[in-house]
Amino acid sequence: MLKDQDRIFTNLYGMHERSLAGARRRGQWDGTAALIGKGRDWIVNEVKASGLRGRGGAGFPTGLKWSFMPRESDGRPAYLVVNADESEPGTCKDREIMRHDPHTLIEGCLIAGFAMGAHAGYIYIRGEYIREREALQAAIDEAYEAGLLGRDAAGSGWDFELYLTHGAGAYICGEETALLESLEGRKGMPRMKPPFPAGSGLYGCPTTVNNVESIAVVPTILRRGAEGCAGVRRPNNAGTKVFAISGHVNNPCVVEEEMSIPLRELIDRHCGGVRGGWDNLKAVIPGGASVPLLPASQCSDAIMDFDWLREKRSGLGTAAVIVMDQSTDVIKAIWRRSAFYKHESCGQCTPCREGTGWMMRVMDRLVRGEAEIEEIDMLLAVTKQVEGHTICALGDAAAWPIQGLIRHFRDEIEDRIRGRQSYGVAAQ
Ligand code: SF4
Repeated sequence: MLKDQDRIFTNLYGMHERSLAGARRRGQWDGTAALIGKGRDWIVNEVKASGLRGRGGAGFPTGLKWSFMPRESDGRPAYLVVNADESEPGTCKDREIMRHDPHTLIEGCLIAGFAMGAHAGYIYIRGEYIREREALQAAIDEAYEAGLLGRDAAGSGWDFELYLTHGAGAYICGEETALLESLEGRKGMPRMKPPFPAGSGLYGCPTTVNNVESIAVVPTILRRGAEGCAGVRRPNNAGTKVFAISGHVNNPCVVEEEMSIPLRELIDRHCGGVRGGWDNLKAVIPGGASVPLLPASQCSDAIMDFDWLREKRSGLGTAAVIVMDQSTDVIKAIWRRSAFYKHESCGQCTPCREGTGWMMRVMDRLVRGEAEIEEIDMLLAVTKQVEGHTICALGDAAAWPIQGLIRHFRDEIEDRIRGRQSYGVAAQ
């Protein structure tokens, strides 16, 4: 179990002051100028050595991503953009950081901005996060007043401006290039890649887009040293992680824990166990709505990290753990996700625009058992035609939960269809 002194987020529950004075008492903004004084290469190498992987879902190595930014400017400015558009269903971890511990993020922005040669950073926050925006803006204002942002930020010799932008509530704006489009004042529609943002991002300039948690952990990693943060249960899955556990547990919560913690330990230790006991568990979605679920039979041994979950054809995603007990209509639960992705598709590419609606309508009939058995494989085939054939990952996000459902709960789908065919009602 993660010890209190090893936690990076020391005010996740808002028990202490979130003000600058409170943050300083908890060790934030301590020696920031000295860290910056060690230079760009040192910071990027430390972040690489810490093994930090992006906390927004994809798990791409953060230091490596930063190193893609040009070393020398060709005349264009460089930008840091923080993705605070936390819209993945079940995910509410960055919200706690922004409303209770905002200075970790702001200090991280300054350091990361310096490391990638950016004199300006933008935090793009989800439209529905109004209180979080207020808390973050108040913290940014405090930082400006204290000389921690702006000219010679924190006495580091580096000029750094930080802007907070409020989105309008579209899920797709969490996709990094759609986010950039929205920041530029256009409809949030994903761009084709390449070019990647590090070559041509915000306003056509080199840009790195990082998740809130990925940036907020950086100051502590640098202060403790990469070695101190790379302590791992399993290689390639380093550091701590903020998990958000919801659904059928006794005590839903957001908690920072070690990466690679067993799922059962996470739920039993922090959530008071599954409602009705572990034997009452039916399935878990381990990483936000878009990743395939794990059936109860795989949950007892499940390890919460990028690699274990990928091996099991699921994913850590945003580490939003959604627990479903035996009372759950799992077909309906996945239909609900299909409806969500259909609603949030930007409509730009055909497999996603048409496929999400098609998949949702078949799922709708499966919920009621009003389908033929053969349609299960037909639905699976459609998910394969959508997966990997779209501009952005929303197509995959719509396809994967259905694939997971069919992989693990095909019997339940078939029983429902047969029940409807035999008795005119769906067996449940
Ligand atoms: Fe838009 Fe969907 Fe294509 Fe992404 S996959 S660009 S959301 S239509």
